[in-house]
Amino acid sequence: MTGLRCIHCDRQYAVTEVDYYCPACGYEDGILDVEYDYAALATVFNPAALSGSRTFSMWRYLPLLPIEDTTKIQHLQVGWTPLYDAARLADELGVARLFVKDEGRNPTASFKDRASSLGVIKALEKGANSITCASTGNAASSLAGFSAAAGLPATIFVPERAPQAKVAQLLVFGARVFAVKGTYDQAWELCMEAAAEFGWYNRNCAINPYLIEGKKTVSLELVDQLRGQYGGVCPDWVVVSVGDGCTVGGVWKGLVEMHKLGFLPRLPKILGVQAEGCQPFLTAWKTGAPLEPTEDNTIADSIAVGHPRNFQKGMKAIVESGGAFISVPDAEILVSITTLARKAAVFGEPAGVAGVAGIRKAVAQGILGGNETVALLVTGNGLKDIQSAVKAAGSPNFVEPTLAAVKAALGGLR
Ligand SMILES: *Cc1c(COP(=O)(O)O)cnc(C)c1O
Repeated sequence: MTGLRCIHCDRQYAVTEVDYYCPACGYEDGILDVEYDYAALATVFNPAALSGSRTFSMWRYLPLLPIEDTTKIQHLQVGWTPLYDAARLADELGVARLFVKDEGRNPTASFKDRASSLGVIKALEKGANSITCASTGNAASSLAGFSAAAGLPATIFVPERAPQAKVAQLLVFGARVFAVKGTYDQAWELCMEAAAEFGWYNRNCAINPYLIEGKKTVSLELVDQLRGQYGGVCPDWVVVSVGDGCTVGGVWKGLVEMHKLGFLPRLPKILGVQAEGCQPFLTAWKTGAPLEPTEDNTIADSIAVGHPRNFQKGMKAIVESGGAFISVPDAEILVSITTLARKAAVFGEPAGVAGVAGIRKAVAQGILGGNETVALLVTGNGLKDIQSAVKAAGSPNFVEPTLAAVKAALGGLR
């Protein structure tokens, strides 16, 4: 790690100089990016070195992570989630080959664990005795889990609409929970105020430059697994859903690093998927206009972000990669829950499966070619939001405990 750079004004800071955002630009614009000396890194982090590694978690990529004290790493297994070659789903969606990375297999069942693990380590390194975040649900449950692992008190702000399962996780892990009577946007502002007032370490991904470094490990791992398990296939597209923009920003950073370090022959394009009822990124990308915050009308709670907090990094990922934003209606997100489950046997939450609907639409619109190879990141587990799953899958046949009842239910056919 060589320092931090403001993505807005390009000012550079030493890591000891500033904790969160660029003081000159403020937190709306002044997002910082962690910089590394890649030439030096290449001597220790290269295909030969990595293929000899016996570490199978996100810490496999330690040289590319901004950790100063490795004794602060928690015991939870984060990362090294499975990557499946999902042939039947590829057929269904009309692409040549489709890899599914099941991020729901992380300790608290979402992709956010890659960021929270890092957030808690940074809090401990800085001697914080309390940590906070605002979240639509997964960053919260994830932070609660990693705080529990570290014995670090956590205070969490979620919008009151957060799915019950995610709130249950928070409470089970012992976090102090504020269910804010308002939107995620309002919960976020409240958390920022409270963190400043009470001196809590702030895990909010958009303003804490270290979190996205955790998120990028999904790409490091994707490329690593494609090399180790699938003969080094290079995807044409990586597909991920977009809320605040941190995830897609991290995904892009990780791909660029793997390209720079000689693991990836060329860079994939990124398809950023939003919900039709909440598509501020798509609108800005299409019109070229500045960010215009919107309502957040979608069942995909994890991407119900009307005011994205990491707009620049999120937009940069799509533009630099030559990819596209796309949006999908809730009805298609719901269908995607069962499509992914029935064609690839992976159960995702609405924001986790939105990419399935995104791929289908991108193929229909000719954005994505039928001869292309795609990697889909399923960002959260389906058990996180049972209500939506039941809406998608329907209800069982209720029968009396007799064979006659079963026969009747089967329509007397057999
Ligand atoms: C947080 C989240 C996203 C989107 O990440 P952003 O950084 O907000 O863009 C997508 N899917 C799931 C399941 C998430 O929890």
